[in-house]
Amino acid sequence: MKSEIEVLKKQKNAVILAHYYERSEIQEIADFIGDSLALAQIAKDTDADMIVFCGVKFMAETAKILSPKKKVLLPVFDAGCPMADMATKEAVLKKKEELGNPVVVSYVNTNADVKSVSDICCTSANAVNVVQSLKEDKILFVPDKNLGEYVKENVKDKDVYLWDGYCPTHELFSLKELENLKKEHPNARVAVHPESPKAVRDAADFIGSTSGIINYAQNEDADEFIIGTEEGVLFELKRTTTDKQFYIIGKSSICENMKKTKIEDLYNALKLERYEITLDREIMEKAYEPIKRMVEIKRV
Ligand code: SF4
Repeated sequence: MKSEIEVLKKQKNAVILAHYYERSEIQEIADFIGDSLALAQIAKDTDADMIVFCGVKFMAETAKILSPKKKVLLPVFDAGCPMADMATKEAVLKKKEELGNPVVVSYVNTNADVKSVSDICCTSANAVNVVQSLKEDKILFVPDKNLGEYVKENVKDKDVYLWDGYCPTHELFSLKELENLKKEHPNARVAVHPESPKAVRDAADFIGSTSGIINYAQNEDADEFIIGTEEGVLFELKRTTTDKQFYIIGKSSICENMKKTKIEDLYNALKLERYEITLDREIMEKAYEPIKRMVEIKRV
């Protein structure tokens, strides 16, 4: 099946993108592995006609928003993100009105309709910078309350209102699990994603995005690391480091949606050109603006 995927890929001038949380077999065959925004930017820059996005729906949507002329496929039609689904466009607009028109900062982990009513997007890597860069003081941060709380801790001079959303995978990491791992591996450095709860973040040596955690583990002068993010990241960590040991916090560190895509789904996606991401033109144009603003701030 893998060799047939290679043949189809060439025939259709397609590129395969895989998020760090995907199954190893998918990361192995992908042309690029990365986090959601890096992959969307790769999708934008490629001259491929077809993008097969092995991830969840909001990621494929972001790729489509950035590359509206390309055919973007999501191999499993119901691979969604429960956290993204915790915010809807209508609920965000209602909250915005209740709070007296704050600036809406959306994590890229939102569906396209929520992006379309947002002022600016952010990633877990640049959330603090994005909020700091705003001239307005009143912010509604959507949808991850843990990342939002982390932003609040680092940007003291703004009123940041938090949406009550969370990532079910990261939210379940507990301090007790982390402390047990620390007892077993006292020399290990602790690197966690800001989607983790505050107690876990406070006990970490490093807090950062998935790419940030990978960079930290690659470059830090230590042999052992306790990692607080989805376990799929182990594929990249083991591929790019030698003689380092990694221990994932918790038994709950698997995102079921990220694990839905199997090789046969990828094969069928390429062969049958399914499931194509289509978005309402107006939503797509409006959702592009907050992403563009974020990218412009990144350059400053
Ligand atoms: S890991 Fe969390 S934020 Fe990422 S896709 Fe899964 S549920 Fe959504």
